[in-house]
Amino acid sequence: MEAKAPADLSKLCIHTITTKPWPIETSAEKFAAAGVKGITVWRDALQGRDLAKTGQLLRSAGLSVVSLCRGGFFPSTSKSKREAAINDNKKAIEEAAELGAPLVVLVCGAEPSQSLDESRAQIRAGIEAVLPLAEKLKVRLGIEPLHPMYADTRSAINTLKQANDMAVAIGSMWVGVAVDVYHLWWDPALKEEIERCGRNKHLFAFHICDWSVPTSDLLNDRGLMGEGCIPVRQIRTWVETAGFRGFNEVEIFSNKWWNGDQQTFLNKIISAYYTHS
Ligand code: ZN
Repeated sequence: MEAKAPADLSKLCIHTITTKPWPIETSAEKFAAAGVKGITVWRDALQGRDLAKTGQLLRSAGLSVVSLCRGGFFPSTSKSKREAAINDNKKAIEEAAELGAPLVVLVCGAEPSQSLDESRAQIRAGIEAVLPLAEKLKVRLGIEPLHPMYADTRSAINTLKQANDMAVAIGSMWVGVAVDVYHLWWDPALKEEIERCGRNKHLFAFHICDWSVPTSDLLNDRGLMGEGCIPVRQIRTWVETAGFRGFNEVEIFSNKWWNGDQQTFLNKIISAYYTHS
């Protein structure tokens, strides 16, 4: 379908998880051919590959490597598991540096057998433990708040206010937040917290998709922009008004789309980006 809007894909980035059936090399080739300018790389897409060479391949295809997804999952009642998580996050930071990604996105984690406050304290301790390495390798860390339906095991950071508070408390220019419309669209404080990100200059990433109505799966039923009820364009306006000049990153986990032809899906992403983002 021909897009009617101006042909501006200069801020369009797609996550490798969005076209999960494609190996990263195919994603790079197809994204570039479609005019996409950025790619966010999920760690599983790098299995068995030389990271520096893969980063080179992405850049020579004309793609900016926007971020590496994902680090985090810091909380645990077990000290040794918390240490293992810190080591894995250090590894993610090293991988990002090798790949040439300037940012690691953090899905912070939660442990249901302890309080959310305890999990948050462990998240902060975990981020502070890996921060010296992130500063040394010049890799930024983006705290991504997750929808509260994931507060049991995936993240004890569930609002942008909580993410902003933590970034401010840590107080490093290398720690900021990632705004994902899927997780935050419902929040009545979203606009003012996005403005706060702008004042603090720590809005590092912007992820887009849509909320399917009704949602059939709490993880893998994200919609294309325009398929659901999220005011993506309005939120994008807030983000840009706050000074954000980075990529609009399409991050869609969807059994429906993964089961279909990926080139058709990519064409629909571009069309939806013009029309609804
Ligand atoms: Zn996201």
